[in-house]
Amino acid sequence: MKPMNQGALVLFSGGQDSTACLAWALERHARVETVGFDYGQRHGVEMQARQAVRARLVHEFPDWAARLGEDHVLDLRGFGAVADSALTADRAIEITDRGLPSTFVPGRNLVFFIYAAALADRRGLTALVGGMCETDFSGYPDCRRETLDALQQALRLGMERDLILETPLMALTKAQTWGLAKGLGGERLVAITIEETHTCYRGDRGTLHPWGYGCGACPACELRQRGFEGWLGDGRPELAA
Ligand code: ZN
Repeated sequence: MKPMNQGALVLFSGGQDSTACLAWALERHARVETVGFDYGQRHGVEMQARQAVRARLVHEFPDWAARLGEDHVLDLRGFGAVADSALTADRAIEITDRGLPSTFVPGRNLVFFIYAAALADRRGLTALVGGMCETDFSGYPDCRRETLDALQQALRLGMERDLILETPLMALTKAQTWGLAKGLGGERLVAITIEETHTCYRGDRGTLHPWGYGCGACPACELRQRGFEGWLGDGRPELAA
């Protein structure tokens, strides 16, 4: 566990994974700020979810509220235009001939961390927290810990700062991420995750399923549903925070 005097910047999209990461960081760091990226997402709903989750955490967790600082949104629409994919253009979600989903934005997490590191430098924060995960995942090469270890080294050298990239979900399944949320914030955090976080690629907020809002058919919804049902099937075990 990191000393509590260290500040953290959480890459926060308003989704299930980054909400678990935010709660995790709030348990460990005396000061936590959040950063979101506007890279031309099709769904403003993601930006609304970020604010809704933060507001509920502040309202329902006074200890965390005392540590939660500013939110930042960085404009990466120039990158979004270069990386043009199903997330930013109106294109069907499918597996491409590279064997990756068309939702893959090349190098996205590398770019996110470089911008986050520059912001963390300005804000005096040393830990960067991201929800990347290499289990149970769609095979994004920039989510692998090996990639992030190399990036951490590059950032330390290039910025001369003892930055650390923290990835609390790296070894967890989607079912275990629900268990982590339960362990960190009990049923209240599970409820916030279900009701406020956004995952659906199609931006559907019309239908509330047991696992949250979404179309129920896109790959992101399927992954989220499978994880939730796996967690239920395991008897909703908590993962030690
Ligand atoms: Zn969906």
